[in-house]
Amino acid sequence: MEVITQTSILKEQVQTFRCNGQQIGFVPTMGALHEGHLQLLRASKKENDITICSIFVNPTQFNNPDDYKLYPRTLEQDTALLERVGCDLLFAPNAEEVYPQQSLLQFSFGKLEAVMEGEHRPGHFNGVATVVSKLFHIVQPHKAYFGQKDLQQVAIIRQLVYGLSFDLQLVCYPTVREESGLAMSSRNKRLTAQQREQAAHLYKSLQLAQELLRKQPVFVIKDEVKAYLHQVEGINLEYFEIADALTLQPVEHLEPGSGKEVALCMAAHVGEVRLIDNLLVNL
Ligand code: AMP
Repeated sequence: MEVITQTSILKEQVQTFRCNGQQIGFVPTMGALHEGHLQLLRASKKENDITICSIFVNPTQFNNPDDYKLYPRTLEQDTALLERVGCDLLFAPNAEEVYPQQSLLQFSFGKLEAVMEGEHRPGHFNGVATVVSKLFHIVQPHKAYFGQKDLQQVAIIRQLVYGLSFDLQLVCYPTVREESGLAMSSRNKRLTAQQREQAAHLYKSLQLAQELLRKQPVFVIKDEVKAYLHQVEGINLEYFEIADALTLQPVEHLEPGSGKEVALCMAAHVGEVRLIDNLLVNL
């Protein structure tokens, strides 16, 4: 696998792939790779001639400096994993390479960023949109792979692709979980064994909400989830929302049998570590 750290060199390489008529699949990541990432890479391998992975811990999408500082960085291990899944090229730039000057761009995604992650992490999606736009321009993929784990991010990037007419196809894959149900996440590397057990209750509470969906009104389900997580030591719930799966706007009334899809979404702190998870349910 070729490892490139410079934008200009990557652009040349991409030009060669494109001139050869090769189809490029792209998996953008922040590294500390796990099975959730590898699933996306394997899918890209299957569906494209060339698979490019990027590893870049993007400073502009962190609203909490400690979260940025403590984000796991395991480049050597990641490179070995990428070799093993047959990734063709790793783009691993540093911050100066991606941001030679401070970016002043401001994106607006309207209502889509006024809820959940957008509401609780000011500036987060602006940073995501900035870096993903840059990466799409540099890598020029035919297909780009993202995980449902970051459901709102997928909706934002869909808007970005539509709004800026990026000529590529977005592909979304379901959340990969540990046996305990805990959604795989690079941030899990920061959890102690005990915290991992506590964190598994996040998924259990989503399952509880799913069970209650057809029986209880929204406010009762929210209370039940809050009460469930309140009794788990070490968990501090930031939000739990029942949202329309397409618009991600809060749903006030559930209509069982309507065939509508809702997203059960949450963010919580387990000790110092902030985790998110979601579950899509067809009513
Ligand atoms: P990250 O490195 O956390 O920025 O994630 C890179 C990509 O992998 C994003 O599209 C994530 O949504 C996706 N991803 C992260 N965790 C998982 C998971 N557990 N299952 C599926 N996709 C994931």
